[in-house]
Formats: sequence, structure tokens, C-alpha cells
Amino acid sequence: MTTQFSNRQFDLARQQLVEHLRKKGITDEAVLEAISAIPRHVFVQEVFKPKAYDDSALPIECRQTISQPFTVAFMTQLLRLQQGQKVLEIGTGSGYQACILTHMGARVFTIERHFALLECARTRMETLGYNIASKVGDGSIGWSQFAPFDGIIVTAGAPDVPQSLLRQLADGGRLVIPVGDKATQDMIVVQRLGEEFVHTRHTGFKFVPLVGKEGWRS
Ligand code: SAM
Repeated sequence: MTTQFSNRQFDLARQQLVEHLRKKGITDEAVLEAISAIPRHVFVQEVFKPKAYDDSALPIECRQTISQPFTVAFMTQLLRLQQGQKVLEIGTGSGYQACILTHMGARVFTIERHFALLECARTRMETLGYNIASKVGDGSIGWSQFAPFDGIIVTAGAPDVPQSLLRQLADGGRLVIPVGDKATQDMIVVQRLGEEFVHTRHTGFKFVPLVGKEGWRS
């Protein structure tokens, strides 16, 4: 099936999405600019392209999802990114979130457990011209080779905050991770201040599970 949408219609829908996110409380202009620049329809299969700018999660390959735009914007805003900072993303999925972070000027490292998903994501990132370090593996244990990170964003739901990720946070760095049971999670922000870790919490999120050594076992 081919979509009936023209690029102009996608552009218009994307700008409407940005205004919707603004009304829902996203205030970081750099986040909104990235959402307005990155073509989300490129990250979903043909059949879902007409829904690409709805504020909803959509299915991707390997029975996973591309997160709801509000969730992407909210988590990115919570990172409080500055240009040139080093960010680790766990759960590459479609590659959309990694492109948003890179567009905002971060140096992004991303890990995905499904090889087939990472292959598709790499193609999209390259096509859009984003240079992103990626690997297949268990992101629940982080990527120690490139630590410490100024930001770590986990886009899958964990049972607890993985200790390995806390160890890989730079001083002043922020970890944003959904934590809860498999049905619903709270968004936890952990900021490292020397040897102290300061937690804040936002309720009411729903993610696919983080499967790994420091996540769910299956
Ligand atoms: N950030 C993605 C995007 O922009 O499309 C959406 C990610 S999707 C909600 C969650 C992803 O986390 C899935 O692709 C899943 O395979 C991946 N995942 C789950 N456990 C993982 C782990 N331990 N390491 C790496 N990736 C994992």
C-alpha cells in the first residue's frame, strides 16, 4: 500500500504536532525545533505513515514501538541537554529519538537488542545525514567503553534503575528512565551530584520492557 500523503501534507501535520506538544506543556524550544525538523513518517512502515504525526506510539518491526511524540519530547526535555554533550540512548528502535538528540547537538551513542531493528535504524540515520554510534547488545549494562555520559535516556521500561547506568553517569549528568511493572511505569530522573544521586519522578507512562541483565529477564 502506498500513502496518499504529499511531503507538504507531512510538513503541515508535523507543525500541527509541534503546536499540540507546546499546548501539552513542552517548553524547551530546542526540543520543539528538533520535532519540527525530523520527518517522523520516515521512521514508520508505509501502512502507519498517515498516522505518523498523531500523538501516539506506533508499531515498528520486531513487535516493538516508536514512542509517542509527547513522551519523546518530555524525556528529551528532562535531559536538559547542552550542545556537544555525550548522550547514551538505550533502545534505538526506529532511530527517531537518536536523530532528535543528534539534531539538538548531542554526540549520541545508541544500543538496540534486536539486530534487524538496528539495521533499519542505521539506514534511516545515514539517509538523513546523522552520524550516530550504535551497536547491538544489552543496553541495561550501558556502554562502559564510552562512559561517562552527560545524559542517559532509556526508552524501555525497567523493573529498577540499573546500577551500571548510574556508574556511567558524569558528575552533573542526568539519567531518564521509565521504572515500574510491565504494565505501567513512572518516569524517573536521576541526577548525579558527586557521589550523590538525586531522584525525581513523573507518573503515568507505558513502555515495552527493557530486557537484559539489569532489566527484565524475558
Ligand atoms: N527510541 C525508540 C525510537 O525512537 O523509535 C523507541 C524504542 S522502543 C519503545 C524500545 C526499544 O528498546 C525496543 O526497540 C527494544 O527492542 C529495545 N530494548 C529493550 N531492551 C533492551 C536492551 N536491554 N538493550 C537495548 N535495547 C533494548
